[in-house]
Amino acid sequence: MWIEGAKQAGVEAHPWDNLAEEPLPTSVEIEGTTVPVKWLPKPELGESGGDLRNVVFVYESAEPHLRLRWQWQARGDFGPVEHRITIENLGGQEVWLLMVDSLRLDWKVTPTQNLRNVYVEKGADSPSAEGTHLETVSDGYNWKGKSSTYAHPVKDEKREIIPAEIVCDSNGNGWYAGVEFSGRTRISLERNGTSLKSVLGLDPEPGPFKTRLGPGETFETPTVFLGAFRGGPDGAGNQLRPWVRAVLGNPVTWKDPQYPLMVNNSWGSGMQVDEPLALKMIGESKELGLEMFHVDAGWFRGVGDWYSEPKKFPHGLAFIADAAHREGLRFGIWTDWTQAALDTESGALNVRDPKVSDWLVTDLKPDWKPEDFKGQTIDIGVPEAHDWAAKEVKRIVEDYHLDMLEHDGYLVAQGCVQTDHPHGPPNRSTMRVIHDWASDFVLASNSTDVSYHAVRAYYDIYEKTRREHPGLLFEICNDGSRMVDFGSAAHGDYFSITDTYDPLSNRRAFYDTSHLLPAAMLESYVEKWPVPKPENFLYMLRSGMMGWITIMTDTTAWTPEQHEAARKAFELYKAQLRPFIRDAQMFHISARPDGVHWDGLEYWDATRGKGVVYAFRGSIPDEAGHHFILAGLQANKHYRLHFEDGSQPDHEVSGSELLGQGLSVRLWNPLSSELVFLDEVAARK
Ligand SMILES: [Zn+2]
Repeated sequence: MWIEGAKQAGVEAHPWDNLAEEPLPTSVEIEGTTVPVKWLPKPELGESGGDLRNVVFVYESAEPHLRLRWQWQARGDFGPVEHRITIENLGGQEVWLLMVDSLRLDWKVTPTQNLRNVYVEKGADSPSAEGTHLETVSDGYNWKGKSSTYAHPVKDEKREIIPAEIVCDSNGNGWYAGVEFSGRTRISLERNGTSLKSVLGLDPEPGPFKTRLGPGETFETPTVFLGAFRGGPDGAGNQLRPWVRAVLGNPVTWKDPQYPLMVNNSWGSGMQVDEPLALKMIGESKELGLEMFHVDAGWFRGVGDWYSEPKKFPHGLAFIADAAHREGLRFGIWTDWTQAALDTESGALNVRDPKVSDWLVTDLKPDWKPEDFKGQTIDIGVPEAHDWAAKEVKRIVEDYHLDMLEHDGYLVAQGCVQTDHPHGPPNRSTMRVIHDWASDFVLASNSTDVSYHAVRAYYDIYEKTRREHPGLLFEICNDGSRMVDFGSAAHGDYFSITDTYDPLSNRRAFYDTSHLLPAAMLESYVEKWPVPKPENFLYMLRSGMMGWITIMTDTTAWTPEQHEAARKAFELYKAQLRPFIRDAQMFHISARPDGVHWDGLEYWDATRGKGVVYAFRGSIPDEAGHHFILAGLQANKHYRLHFEDGSQPDHEVSGSELLGQGLSVRLWNPLSSELVFLDEVAARK
């Protein structure tokens, strides 16, 4: 059925046949007893629109009284189709559901078929040495990728992925699938003989998963998407990225011609931000041509006490916002609005307040202390905690005249010891609690269920805030890229893609993440870095200019020459690079950056017949030149090349050369860069 829907949505027919039957849940638990469920089809309740864009099968169980909806939907005019299952409790009794996967695939493959699985890690903390994985799917292959609300990388252990898989044959054809949910999820892929199986959905581990379904309540599996592509992993990305924009993205954001914005962020001065610094940065932002001033952590009275510190901001934050607005800049701030600490002032979320302590994910010891900008997370899956947080977010946005709200840290719970919350209780005998950076992280049998409820609450709060404040931007940071997935992509406007901000880490995180998500949504913070030569300065800036750029260094420390170079680079970004970052196709035209050798990235906008290549030379002294094999061009056309820094005179090259031997770039010095603009030459008479 989905293939019909996919065809309707403009996906070309392909040779993949799914043999998996999706089993409906065979039992539930009621008062601790397993009760079998018998599902009967209810065709009269289903939907099958004439255009096959929305197909719903409905089943019901009489006792216990449950209704299951099994839905396929094609929301885009192109790209993947989406699938979800919902189960509604129509009876008067509480029911516990066991694991319901979102989607099971079982493709028939031939024993000789060469297949690869491409997946990417979250840039959480620092990008790892690998980041983008291209694995051969041979007989016996057995892979599992996991994602959660807060990736916690552990050295030498598998890292969390952005939850998607791209499965590709040797001709570059294949299918991709991913999960539109920020809770604990997993994707598995297994090849055995002629069977290639994949399962997507909530993470059953550590489990066993159980979730409560009260009378009138509905459980919904994470929505998954499934699409078919040609042209290898970049072919998949060039379909998926525009689909994320068109279907999951916020239309108001994408209509904004300044999106992705150029930002000046105060973290270059750390927690020391205050009114004089803020006003100085607003002036600097204006002079440099930046478009938003972003106050990072340090502005508040304390963790959980999201009121400006009067000693630092005697006139409050709205005063700073208004000052930014007067200069034509937008204004945003850092928060971690689910964290509580010890402040006792009115409005503060205090862990010792009996009401608040009931919302915390663990019971804190009497000597517990917060850190500068870290506290203990509340579980917003609890309705009262959700309501408090929704009101607090509204107050912060309105009182501080915000254009952008960043959330950082461990925001959405994924593990909780409490037994009187909507999620199930943990099994205490197998429970683990990790204390890190002032917060407790619980890994227990109920973790996936905790994340399920808390993520729904998080989405609800941001959906409501967006309705009330169209045009408000949400930055999803979470200590740098720890909650990057297709559910957060549907509820926020851009992601911090790593928490390590040197040029190589920025390029690595961008290389990985941009396989799956629109470049405009991918924010690189550019921090202070040694720049003995002017070309090192441009290399540093451009390493963060392939998507959304946020400057996070004290720009008053820049020399007049650096100011001028930055101003020119920002002007070029707005006039020429941003249109590609928003609209163009993207090609990964090198191996993943290693900082030693060359790396590069190509944008190509076929509609305008224009593109750009970002070329970076690594640290090695004896590699003055490199050939980038380009993509997306036509062999029989000609292209005018413009070298922005003048490393070569402008000239014309044939498409066949650019696609064959490649674009030749030469740079004198290591750790330098060039931007090569491509312009299709009109056919000669
Ligand atoms: Zn809880």
